[in-house]
Amino acid sequence: MSAIATDPIPVRALNQVTYCPRLYYLQYVDAVMPVNQHVEGGLFDHRRVDDPDLKNKTRNDRGTATSRGIALSSDTLGITGILDVIEEKNGEQYPVETKHGSAPHDDNGKPTVWDNDAVQLCAQAMLMEEAFGKPVSHGFQFHAGSKERVELKFTSELREKTHAAISRCRELSVLDSPPEPLPSELRHRCFGCSLAPVCLPEETLYQIGHPIPNEDAKQPAELKKVIPQSDDGAVLYLQEPGSSVGKRSEHLVIKKDGKETSRVPMHAVRQVVVCGNVQVSTQALETLAENEIPISYVTGHGRFIGSFVPAPSKNVSLRESQFKKFNESAVCLELAKAVVRAKLANQRTLLMRNLREDDTRGSKEYGARGLYDLLRTLDRHTSIESVLGVEGQGAALYFGEFGRFLKQPPTGKGFDFTTRNRRPPRDPVNALLSFAYTMLAKDCFSAVCTVGFDPYKGFFHAGRHGKPSLALDLCEEFRPVIADSVVLTLINNEIVTKADFVTWRDSCQLTDAGRKAFFAAYEQRKSTEITHPVYGYRMSYSRMLEVQARMLAAYVRGSIPSYTGFTVR
Ligand code: SF4
Repeated sequence: MSAIATDPIPVRALNQVTYCPRLYYLQYVDAVMPVNQHVEGGLFDHRRVDDPDLKNKTRNDRGTATSRGIALSSDTLGITGILDVIEEKNGEQYPVETKHGSAPHDDNGKPTVWDNDAVQLCAQAMLMEEAFGKPVSHGFQFHAGSKERVELKFTSELREKTHAAISRCRELSVLDSPPEPLPSELRHRCFGCSLAPVCLPEETLYQIGHPIPNEDAKQPAELKKVIPQSDDGAVLYLQEPGSSVGKRSEHLVIKKDGKETSRVPMHAVRQVVVCGNVQVSTQALETLAENEIPISYVTGHGRFIGSFVPAPSKNVSLRESQFKKFNESAVCLELAKAVVRAKLANQRTLLMRNLREDDTRGSKEYGARGLYDLLRTLDRHTSIESVLGVEGQGAALYFGEFGRFLKQPPTGKGFDFTTRNRRPPRDPVNALLSFAYTMLAKDCFSAVCTVGFDPYKGFFHAGRHGKPSLALDLCEEFRPVIADSVVLTLINNEIVTKADFVTWRDSCQLTDAGRKAFFAAYEQRKSTEITHPVYGYRMSYSRMLEVQARMLAAYVRGSIPSYTGFTVR
């Protein structure tokens, strides 16, 4: 039995489990803790309560004794908590809890307390009763938003509810996967939930059969977006040879030849990419890790070396399920087909878009027809090897046409592409493609790590020793629409020219200036918003990577019946 099943339960968790059992599971069993403005608001409202100068001290004010930050535990109840405030007046002691937001009102217009908050306050009273040996009949909740202080009676009914919440936490703690998201009548709670971007409630419910899809539109009828469309913060690319990165206060300071060249506030960064000969100080690494900002290392040639990511998520059960599932050949085959299906479909879409000028709308093109035929036969394949074969045939068809996607300038001296080559790439187009796939691999690496997967255990590219197989598996569906698309933008919009490449001993690579142009185009592509083909709402490509990784996790844990690869329309 895991420790979480026997450890004392924090009283705050009783609040969460009453609000939503899935929220409790994600936060206390999977140990996920993102912060949104509601949580931050709560922390702000607790600033006086949590002031270390006031903790464990009692002050008397006009006949009321006030003690703050009192830690109490009970082995009998199996709960623990730090009480905001205990007041004592006329010989009676009672808890006072501060909450962010305004008080709800009952049918008579009187301020009251939310059910989940009532359970938390009642649990505090039960802790006090055991610790001090006196009954506690009532407490108060202070609503910081409306500045109302509401009295709450600890009735037998509320006490029963509190005991039930403790039992529910214990039951949930031994489950291998989170319970279903809240039913539709309680779905409004998801809009204020700090874990909505992790939980993906609407998406999960849709995948398991509710709400009922709108048959005509082939779209979920009631799917509402509760997650942010794009990520906050920028990706910081460091590639100036000989530069160094240190930390000063809450900033990253970049220096070259001992002189500061730029200074970036830590809160404005969500990822750091180190390319080539750049030194990052231990202090900077430590602070980035503390702030859960991953750093990826790539060589100047565009080889992904690896990422320094914050300590792996405590979500051990996901990794256990991952290893179990990815050792089942039927599961691997199903997932391999899902990502190859999406990749072929996206290659076909890109091909048709780029050859549309030929007045055939692209669909009659030899490559488009070939990809369509491969898609039709994909389901018949019964082994990973034959799915790999289909993927290879698709790549041959697609890259057979890729040279035609490149616009030629009036001079006729543009970029040529005849065949895909790599390790090393021997011409500018292949150098760009390889670099783009490396960047995509590092983003997929971050996405699968964020979700709590082991990036090295995949279902499709399983045999590649030392390679982040799962990150590469997730890349497949995004290669045409992110990586190849960036390459086409750079060339067809003449953002890069032949002067942005150097070739040495048959190996072609981008110059510093070429890489700079690449990074800008790549980030722009990732911030482009597109409509999710299944869920029907818009989000950035960057966000889409994480959403797909989360849906893969939901499939691996058995929460949804299948995984659907991402396709553009
Ligand atoms: S988003 Fe909704 S279902 Fe998911 S954890 Fe939050 S409240 Fe529960």
